[in-house]
Amino acid sequence: MVNRSPCIRNLVQSLRAASLTSKLADYRRYTSQAASSLRVASQSSAYSDEEYADVDWDKLGFGLTPTDYMYIMKCSKDEKFQQGRLSRYGNIELSPSAGVLNYGQGLYEGTKANRTADGRILLFRPELNATRMRHGAERMCMPCPSIEQFVGAVKETVFANKRWIPPPGKGSLYVRPLLLGSGPILGLAPAPDYTFLIYASPVGNYFKEGTAPLNLYIDEEFVRASPGGAGGVKTITNYAPVLKAIGRAKNRGFSDVLYLDALNRKYLEEVSSCNIFIVKGNLISTPRANGTILEGVTRKSIIEIGRDQGCQVEERAILVDELIDADEVFCTGTAVGVAPVGSITHQNTRIKFKSEGTLVSQELYSTLVGLQTGGIEDKKGWTVEIR
Ligand SMILES: *Cc1c(COP(=O)(O)O)cnc(C)c1O
Repeated sequence: MVNRSPCIRNLVQSLRAASLTSKLADYRRYTSQAASSLRVASQSSAYSDEEYADVDWDKLGFGLTPTDYMYIMKCSKDEKFQQGRLSRYGNIELSPSAGVLNYGQGLYEGTKANRTADGRILLFRPELNATRMRHGAERMCMPCPSIEQFVGAVKETVFANKRWIPPPGKGSLYVRPLLLGSGPILGLAPAPDYTFLIYASPVGNYFKEGTAPLNLYIDEEFVRASPGGAGGVKTITNYAPVLKAIGRAKNRGFSDVLYLDALNRKYLEEVSSCNIFIVKGNLISTPRANGTILEGVTRKSIIEIGRDQGCQVEERAILVDELIDADEVFCTGTAVGVAPVGSITHQNTRIKFKSEGTLVSQELYSTLVGLQTGGIEDKKGWTVEIR
């Protein structure tokens, strides 16, 4: 009998349950596929809404595959967003003096739609993305769609592009809402007009490593965000400045950069587009959100799942020196999922972590994916079905 901590034991039990659920789901998928091919065969040739777009689902990475429709809604400063609409996916027209082009007045979001084995379409906690966009809009002096408008628009966009949602187990439809200062402005001030836009693309794994462990690099020169800045919101202005750090790390064979806090340069913050967790014994820790890290929907969900399963989970200041003693490290984000970290290189020292065998990260991820893809019953009300 392996001696496991209570936290791991619970995780293993829930995994076993999940694997039974997924076998049942496989069977359901098989029978429902058989039924649907019968249905398609009996339809007339005028039937154009084929179930799946022509995509090689086994080759999906995180590249852009344009889909059929995007959603657009506009309003002016001091107004509220009223009514948006779907249009064919394509280029948009902007004034050369648009606020977003000149001063970076823009926010993005990212969420995913998944197919379940029994043929449903699920969103995962989209209201949290809507809320985060509202906080960001406040910080960036922009009007913002209401939570209901945001979630409604995401649903419409996914439904209109449903043939682009990968088959169960092959990936997700990544949904990218944008809020842009689209009106013309010359002096530094909020733009006069705003555009809320959503497009979507089928995606597979984010990192070229696939599901293999990541090798992160701690950059001593660049920081991502500083106190009083806008690191806590998903403003587009947080991303171009880290391209150089990412590029340098990739040139040296690393997967991505782990940033330290700007003031002391000794506390962990996060990776370029995902949050970080460390595991030591029964304790799972992640840096406390104090305005310089982006509070991920995945981060929040993993904290809850960990606690549900009996682990101790803390949001706290984590010293870079603690990495030496960590058992496991992993990253979380909508795009990356939950990705194990095999090593972190700091001041020419490569610190290695457990990345095979029974991993806490993998077990937390199985539960998360189970909820997101319908393999595990959602008792938390986290998923939103689109019909
Ligand atoms: C989007 C993002 C995350 C992850 O957020 P999720 O809501 O989990 O997708 C983490 N860090 C940064 C910097 C991000 O931009």
